[in-house]
Formats: sequence, C-alpha cells, structure tokens
Amino acid sequence: MSLQRFFADLHIHIGRTRTGKAVKITGSRTLTLSNILQAAKQPKGLDIVGVIDCHSPEVILELKTLVDTGDLVPLTAGGFRYQDKVTLIPGVEVEVNDAHCLGPIHVLGYFPTLEALVAFSRWYAAKVSNLHLSTQRIRASASELQEKVKALSGMFIPAHVFTPFKSLYGKGVHRSLTEVLDPDLIDAVELGLSSDTSMADRIGELHRYTFTTNSDAHSLAKIAREYQALQLKAPDFDSVLQAFHGCGDQKVLANYGLNPLLGKYYTTTCAKCRMPAGEERCLHCGSTQKVKGVSERITELADAVPLATRPPYIHQVPLEFLPGLGPKTMAGLLDHFGTEMDILHRVPAAALAEVVKPELADMIVKAREGTLQLESGGGGKYGRVKNGQMG
Ligand SMILES: [Zn+2]
Ligand SMILES: [Zn+2]
Repeated sequence: MSLQRFFADLHIHIGRTRTGKAVKITGSRTLTLSNILQAAKQPKGLDIVGVIDCHSPEVILELKTLVDTGDLVPLTAGGFRYQDKVTLIPGVEVEVNDAHCLGPIHVLGYFPTLEALVAFSRWYAAKVSNLHLSTQRIRASASELQEKVKALSGMFIPAHVFTPFKSLYGKGVHRSLTEVLDPDLIDAVELGLSSDTSMADRIGELHRYTFTTNSDAHSLAKIAREYQALQLKAPDFDSVLQAFHGCGDQKVLANYGLNPLLGKYYTTTCAKCRMPAGEERCLHCGSTQKVKGVSERITELADAVPLATRPPYIHQVPLEFLPGLGPKTMAGLLDHFGTEMDILHRVPAAALAEVVKPELADMIVKAREGTLQLESGGGGKYGRVKNGQMG
C-alpha cells in the first residue's frame, strides 16, 4: 500500500444553486457546486473538497446531474471523483441549540454516498424551517444529530470551535465539550481562523482528536485560504476518515492556515465599536459589553501542555496577499506551473525565479515555509505583507 500526499479543504459553502436560488445567503452568486469543483481543479489544485450545504434539494439535483453526465463518479470507498482530478465529499453545517447548550453551536456532517446524503436531507427536512438554506437551527439535540450522522456512516466534526459566536467553546459550553456532545462520536475538530494547533492543544480533552483547518469559504476566491495536507492511500471518504483516526499511517501531515493573531476574533473587543476592549469599559465608546477573544477564551479553558506529536501548523500567507502578485502575474504563474498548490508546494524556488522577479519568488518561498508575516489591517481585516520581511 503506497501512501500519497493530498491537499484538502473540507468546509466550502454553496452560495447559489444552478438556477440561482440562494443557499448560503451571504455567499457569493458564483459559488455553485459546479463552480466550486471547477475552481478546486483549476486554479486551486486541491485534491479533496468538503462541500457544505449539499443537503439542499436543488444541490442534490445538481449532484445527481453531474453523476449522470459522468463529471462526477461515485467512489467505492465513498465520495465522488470530479473529472478524474478532485474528490468531492458532500456535507452539511447545522446549528444546534439544545437544552444542554448555553448558546448556539455549529457542527459539520459529511456523507460517503448520495443515498446517505439523501437520507440525511429527508430526516433533516422535518427538523428545520427552511431545508433549502445553509446552517439551519435544528429541532433536535446535538447527540441525536451525532447519532444520525454516524448511523448513515457519516463523519461528524464540530465547526470553528472557538469563534465567539455560534461555536462549541465560544458560546456552547461552560468548560467541556462533553456538556453537549458525545465525545466518542466526534471524528475530528475544526480549528477556525482565529486559532491554531498550539493554542487549541492547551485543552486536554482535545488531545484525542485530530485538528482540521478549512476555509469556510463564502466565495470562490476564499477556497483554500486554510487547508491541510493528508497522507492517504487514496483520495476517498474512507481514507480521510481513517486519517482523522490515525489508521495505518494515514494522517494529517500539516495544517495550513492564517496566523491567528491577525484573525478578527483573536483579541477581546468592545461589542459596540469593535475596538480592543479596555479593562472595565471601552476607552473609545464607554460600553461595558465585550466580545471575548479566542485567545482569552482558550486561556480560561487551558488545563494541559500541548502534545509533542501534532502535525505542524504552518502560518501561510495566501498568494493573493503578496505584493507584486497581481492578476496578470498570477495568470503567468498558473500558465507555467499549473495550480496554486503547485506554486505553493511543488515548484522549486529556482523555477519560480525564472518566471517572476527574484523578490517575489523569494516571498512565495517564505509564504510556503510560513516565515512571511502579515501586518494587521485593523477592523478585523487582514493587512499586507510586512515589506516581505520575516517576522
Ligand atoms: Zn459556522
Ligand atoms: Zn461554515
């Protein structure tokens, strides 16, 4: 059995159906299932995509059509292969706020087959107000949902677990995920944009789970803003699930994400004006209401020393942030080297320097290694690269 490296982004939303109907209302109009698959193939160069919102009836129809036309081929070990290149794993994001939750939490379910997806969608239909839309509040407990996903041979992952709103540790529980979830029915834990492995690993109850890093993309451009490299025997549902449980040398090789320091939820801010919060009241507007940052929340929960065995978390700067890497240069790079994943991971530095200016080639190599730093842009937005300097 030979193992290979595959790049995966497992949390991509659907903005619209084929006919233009809204799924994720805040998602982009061009973010359709077909466009996601195409963008994953080229320019992104992802091997595996987890597409959330596939429970929506019109998306299921689109999926069926793609199977009929032969663009998607169902895989024996679960998932679908798109045009021989990209593996699709269909999923759903659900909002839970049951009697055990202190506030709403978001969780992800993924399904190996069309049959399982359709069965889930039918079950879900009776428990939400609008089956067509993304991330609906379910009238069921978190553990009922976990059991349903597992009964359909699915994969269950709590989403962006530290974000201050709508997440497990953000609003859902006092101290422990066991207040809400069955710990044995969790396949991995998604970190989200304002945390990384070393932060999350200070929570002892998370030591038994693999961490995933995904984009939560609401537009085509944001796909693969976070992702992971997986070591698998094949790019299919079963292998991904086995990798999350560390079976047979299958595993996460590395997590790639933005530096959490720059994430918009990292520090505690004033709830009214979003400026960094003062001790008692906001120094800018006087409000006493705060949004607790991810960093402060993790410090509250921390009870363990991070494991030495975790895969590296690489703070990678997306290519679109590099100064001098405009659309024209990007097109040239893609023309020469194939995909964004090729540029970030496979092309030797010397080959890059033959196509772009040496300073830019150098920055791409630093972005690859995680040694490039971004300046905070303020107001929760990411900034520019710090003169291309190491930070
Ligand atoms: Zn969410
Ligand atoms: Zn999401």
